[in-house]
Amino acid sequence: MNGDVAMLSWCDLTGLVRCRSVLQDQLSAAGRYGVGWPSAGQAILPFGTVADNPWGPLDEVRQVPVGANAMLAARDGWPMFNMVLTRSIDRDGRPWDCCPRSFCEAALGALRQETGWTMLSAFEFEFTRLGEPEVSARPVYTLDAFRTSAKFFDAAVFALREAGLDPQTVEPEFGAGQLEIACGPAAGMAGPDRAVMIREVLREVARRQDVRITFAPKPAPNEVGNGQHVHFSFIDAAGKPVLYDRDSPALISPLASSFVAGIMRHMSAICAIAAPAPVSYLRLGPHHWSCGYGSFGLQNREAAIRVCPPASRDETDRARAINLEFRPPDGLCNPYLLIGMLAYAGLSGIRDKLPLPPMVDRDPADLSDEERRSLSIAPLPASLLEALDALANDTEARSWMPPLLHDAFQSVKRSEIAAVQDKSPEELCAIYRNIY
Ligand code: GLU
Ligand code: MG
Repeated sequence: MNGDVAMLSWCDLTGLVRCRSVLQDQLSAAGRYGVGWPSAGQAILPFGTVADNPWGPLDEVRQVPVGANAMLAARDGWPMFNMVLTRSIDRDGRPWDCCPRSFCEAALGALRQETGWTMLSAFEFEFTRLGEPEVSARPVYTLDAFRTSAKFFDAAVFALREAGLDPQTVEPEFGAGQLEIACGPAAGMAGPDRAVMIREVLREVARRQDVRITFAPKPAPNEVGNGQHVHFSFIDAAGKPVLYDRDSPALISPLASSFVAGIMRHMSAICAIAAPAPVSYLRLGPHHWSCGYGSFGLQNREAAIRVCPPASRDETDRARAINLEFRPPDGLCNPYLLIGMLAYAGLSGIRDKLPLPPMVDRDPADLSDEERRSLSIAPLPASLLEALDALANDTEARSWMPPLLHDAFQSVKRSEIAAVQDKSPEELCAIYRNIY
């Protein structure tokens, strides 16, 4: 088709994917030089206004394809969908300090250099179908609920496969009209690249079917929250899984234990990245399986970090299947910033040889303050403002980000808070479910 375009795309600080498009036949030139984008574009809020930023009208970066894309053929009157991932380079051709993808690449590179490990990651996408009483009325987790969304699931699986994004499970979730799709693990940058593309492919599937979906962390104050948990594990340079240790109470190796302890140490700062909007804090909290405390446990869905033990008895299978799940993230997060922060936090735990954190085998909310203290369990931030302050005051976590990236993130997010500070929870949910 003549009008075929490639959408040169990037996930920005708000977790939205912005794009500039070129005609398909211009793609090889764009591949070399990228497309220009005003640096101040990195300060655009989800609402279209622009946060204070150091660039104003003056500077520009180039968005250069990284060699990963999600392509869906033209079908049913819809033109081709070709989402071409890019990273930002500055005037000197170097990775731009404010590029989330480059931040992640540096973090995974540091992890590889110091441990020899490659991080594998796989995301679970929870989202809600909106405005369809017949969908939301089905009893949760039933075959009936599944079949009510069977056309959407079928199109989603087809599209995710077509785009090479490895869908693995599709199911109705606990909330009214809530669905979940999970994809397989991918190594290194392919993990967050996939996460960015999957959200957009699912939005495209919904668009093509005239279905409305939202990844908003809370579609309404009293509805079940949507998380975007990330599972991760590691392989060594030879491709051998290195997380498992059959003799550890947590089933993970000493080095992986230090990695977990590093994340625990920087939990509040990481929440600013994982749960990055004011509305995110309507989701986080005890007794919702979204987690309300910075805690760690084996197969504990109220823990912020859960060891997901393998089902198999075969030791080789067990080593391959075991993984860690980080539960605070929601679908508004930037997957590059998230994976980058987890990698740096884990690496800091390894450098400091931190011991395995205490394991919690109950809902941490059911423990007394005293018990929680003795298990080093701290509440997660209660608001985005608290999380941003935690990031600003955590000198180590802050140092992982180039100052330009940290300051731009703080500015965008604080402006976002200011823009919605007078909204009721109902209004807040409505605003975010319409955007995300
Ligand atoms: N919907 C829950 C959340 O907000 C997660 C439920 C689950 O364990 O899948 O994170
Ligand atoms: Mg779920």
